[in-house]
Amino acid sequence: MTTPAEASPLIAVSNLKIQFGRGGSLVRAVDGVSFTVARGETLGIVGESGSGKSVTARAILRLVQTPPGRYAGGEILFEGEDLLTKSEAGMRAIRGNRISMIFQEPMTSLTPVLTVGYQIAESLRLHQKLSASEARKTAVALLQRVRIADAERRVDEYPHQLSGGMRQRAMIAMALACRPKLLVADEPTTALDVTIQAQVLALLAELRTELGMSIILITHNFGVVAEVADRVAVMYAGAVVETAPTAQIFRDPRHPYTKGLLGCIPRLEGNARRLNAIKGSIPAPGGLPTGCRFHPRCPSAMPICAAQDPPEIEITPGHMTKCWLDSQPAAEVAP
Ligand code: SF4
Repeated sequence: MTTPAEASPLIAVSNLKIQFGRGGSLVRAVDGVSFTVARGETLGIVGESGSGKSVTARAILRLVQTPPGRYAGGEILFEGEDLLTKSEAGMRAIRGNRISMIFQEPMTSLTPVLTVGYQIAESLRLHQKLSASEARKTAVALLQRVRIADAERRVDEYPHQLSGGMRQRAMIAMALACRPKLLVADEPTTALDVTIQAQVLALLAELRTELGMSIILITHNFGVVAEVADRVAVMYAGAVVETAPTAQIFRDPRHPYTKGLLGCIPRLEGNARRLNAIKGSIPAPGGLPTGCRFHPRCPSAMPICAAQDPPEIEITPGHMTKCWLDSQPAAEVAP
């Protein structure tokens, strides 16, 4: 059954493969990833460090360095155009304009030697051809919109003069200057304390509604997903292992890895309990196990799991998983 995201997606990533190195030292960082994002929708991509989620995010803006990286297959259709076949000049016209990105550490995108106002105004001058004075006026309005107090003064300050929370807001202002259709946010709140994190997430949700944009939110934190995402894609070792509407994944997680991630979330209600850590660690992308790549860590692994990669199946409309437990009754699964 077709979900709204699949019916008219703003972006459709299919079978994306990104590799590093060659021959015996080949690292399959992203290995056949597919997902869609509808207009106005927020998709959370969740997984541990090393799951390939950040490489996937960077690939959408074609920011993976090649070499050493290589786009080894798949397509990224954005409003019907394949971003993987666009020229570099074509991508420059898209980055910061129709698609923007914000990072965990604002200093990654803010240049320390230029004022924040100059940096916000730069994309307005480049993409929207505003005059210097119009761009400055818009930069002040954007800083006010992301609730930076005394924006008239802050616009002429350098990034190091702002607090961490203010820098994050300034980066959001910069990313949204051209009213992008898609915002890719890579761990945007990880470096912030919880109060500022909640404010930044609320701000992103508000701006999404106001601008009608879509968001791809990369995070290792299911709590962040619960607050802002409409749907979730869970990534493990370079592949998507489960996708579902957010409420559904909390209500009925199917993949043992998703259950493991949810078991790591501290809860306030109910009796105190030990958090369930997932045993072991994510495999190095250069040494992926055979069969289901989660099998060495999976508490429910069966003989077939080490031998064959499970197919993706749809549990309920829009809820997909890749696990032998859901593909066939365990008793029928031959090793
Ligand atoms: Fe675990 Fe097997 Fe399912 Fe993989 S396919 S998650 S090893 S039960």
